[in-house]
Amino acid sequence: MGAAGAIGSLLGPIAPFTAAFSAQEQTNDPKRSRPILLKNGIVLTLDRSIGDFEKANVLLENGKIAAVSPSVSSDEAEIIDASGMIVMPGFIDTHRHMWQGLLRNIGPNDLLGDYLAKILFGFAPKMTPDDIYLGNLVTALSAMNAGITCILDWSHIGTSPDHTDAAIAALRATNIRAVYAYGPNFGLKPAWFEDPKSAYPNDIRRLRRDHFSSSDQLVTLAIAAAGPEFSSVEAAVREWTIAREVGARISVHVGVGLLGKKGQLQALGEQVAFKDDTTYIHCCTLNDQEWRMMADSGATVSLAVPIEMQMGHGMPPIQKALDSGIRPSLSVDVETNQPADMFTQMRTCFALQRALVNEKNLFGGPEPDRAKLLTVRDVLEFATIEGAKANGLGDKVGTLTPGKQADVIMLRANSINVTPLNDVVGDVVLGMDSGNVDSVFISGRAIKRDGQLLNVDLAALQRIAKEARDSLLQRANIPAPKL
Ligand SMILES: [Zn+2]
Repeated sequence: MGAAGAIGSLLGPIAPFTAAFSAQEQTNDPKRSRPILLKNGIVLTLDRSIGDFEKANVLLENGKIAAVSPSVSSDEAEIIDASGMIVMPGFIDTHRHMWQGLLRNIGPNDLLGDYLAKILFGFAPKMTPDDIYLGNLVTALSAMNAGITCILDWSHIGTSPDHTDAAIAALRATNIRAVYAYGPNFGLKPAWFEDPKSAYPNDIRRLRRDHFSSSDQLVTLAIAAAGPEFSSVEAAVREWTIAREVGARISVHVGVGLLGKKGQLQALGEQVAFKDDTTYIHCCTLNDQEWRMMADSGATVSLAVPIEMQMGHGMPPIQKALDSGIRPSLSVDVETNQPADMFTQMRTCFALQRALVNEKNLFGGPEPDRAKLLTVRDVLEFATIEGAKANGLGDKVGTLTPGKQADVIMLRANSINVTPLNDVVGDVVLGMDSGNVDSVFISGRAIKRDGQLLNVDLAALQRIAKEARDSLLQRANIPAPKL
């Protein structure tokens, strides 16, 4: 079955959503719609050359940020009252296995080995293109609901071209800004690098040609490389070579538990050039030479701090990254045992780094040095600016800089959990949660308004997702969960 057939098969179960999103796309093209003026908000631009404003207006025009200032106005714009709101760039997640949306919280007590056995080797080989479409759909919707406007979909479910096309179709349908990172299905036998008929990685040439011929679109292309720890150095060389041939950024898990202690990344670095086109995920158990190689190449890093602590990847290397001169980005990784938002990510990273420094100071380390402690603004930058860089979109998103894409969120600063407001950045990082996300705009298009996602029939989506989940459990021969 070709790509068109795969999408056609999806139209049965999910027709209401496809219709709703298509309709929105046709009628809500930001290039043709009215400008929007977000008026009288507390504005965190996160652009250090512009600074923040106690009260300012943000003008969104033609899908971009046209101006940020206390006085900017527009006669033709739709005016949105942002008083009582914090206006800031949307959050950016640099690594999420979005296809697992139907499997949320299904392994709450799992360690990494349990997860590999259950999710990658149990469920993944049984998943259909429809399952992938729905998984990506619910993940994208809940990410946007939590104020995430840009996400890297680490899609290691590239079982067939139909599966990859379903993942891409779902990302497009929701209007999220996404980097689709094409990866192999780890659960297939034989493994992709032993199977001459494997679609991965060669099918990335078709994806580039058919889906990603322009870089000026909401969904862009990367490769979710299995890398040297989850395949072999030789196989990873193939991945690096084809990624660079098609001009795709590389995202790879390294330094994962005991796998990361074998010097495999260093061995790869002796075969291929490390460049600034690569994001290294986790990095918990890498050696000093590997950190030097990453830093010298201008690499970006993605830390999934709660998951690394919870599942046994190793101690999150937040201090190692900072000491190497790398300001990391943050990522949710899996929703099989983590929530969908970046508030959790920021808080956990903040608390862990300070715990490590404080512990050192307490027991015979150097005198307490406040300059070594992360601040709330640091972690807010990790969840925005550094995320944009790691997703290869640093010139397009991550700050409210005029000329950048209008990916903007409004957070309720008058909710009970932050009343009274005492420190704006502190309130966002430590006091808020997804319930504070009032409005979300991506490329100037309204996705969430007044605390509600637009164009989503949640009751119908719940029914469809549950039916698909039950069918998947049956195929994987796993009993349905009980309370
Ligand atoms: Zn991961």
